[in-house]
Amino acid sequence: MVLPTDFTVAYKCPCCGAFEFLSISVFKLNRTKTVRGCRRCKESLFETEARSDGSFRFDVPCISCGGRHVFFLDRKAVINGETAIFPCERTGMEIFFTGRDSKVRSLVDKLENELEKLISMFGYERYFKNSRIMLDTLNIIHDIAEKKKLYCACGSRGIELVLLPGEIRLQCRNCFLWESLKAATNEDLKATMQRKKICLSRNYLKGIVSER
Ligand SMILES: [Zn+2]
Ligand SMILES: [Zn+2]
Ligand SMILES: [Zn+2]
Repeated sequence: MVLPTDFTVAYKCPCCGAFEFLSISVFKLNRTKTVRGCRRCKESLFETEARSDGSFRFDVPCISCGGRHVFFLDRKAVINGETAIFPCERTGMEIFFTGRDSKVRSLVDKLENELEKLISMFGYERYFKNSRIMLDTLNIIHDIAEKKKLYCACGSRGIELVLLPGEIRLQCRNCFLWESLKAATNEDLKATMQRKKICLSRNYLKGIVSER
């Protein structure tokens, strides 16, 4: 049996949207605490603590709810190089990945592949202001729809999505009410993640029209 000497953790920086990969030594000295900033934007902080029982404690910034979460990895998972996926406790979105380097990278690749598909569907890469934000926003809308919380004030659930470079327009197939969700920045994404339901309504339509 070959013991691993290190494992990889990955999370998505809530400030710049980049995936951060960190290699952590299994033999890290007990009780050491490391705090490091995102390599790309230096804004978000990630904290690792090696505990005396051989387990690890992580304090992770959350792209999904904008808060922070504490996750634990027990010694067995570390030594066996098990893959673990941790969700945001508020939104359920998978935000933190640990395990052998190749496994963690292929998990993240899978997420990124969805993105590639979306880009190729639109033919060219520069269509969206931020393709990653667009994809995450789409996934949130799908989750809301699955919970039957996406509907129109007229009672219809037949909602059509129109993808624009920096927003998603949701429009009712029955009465043509619509609402626009901004999907260009991490701030937009944060706002969308706080939505529990999307109900297209006339008032909202008026609001949009008067803004323009
Ligand atoms: Zn960053
Ligand atoms: Zn969260
Ligand atoms: Zn309607």
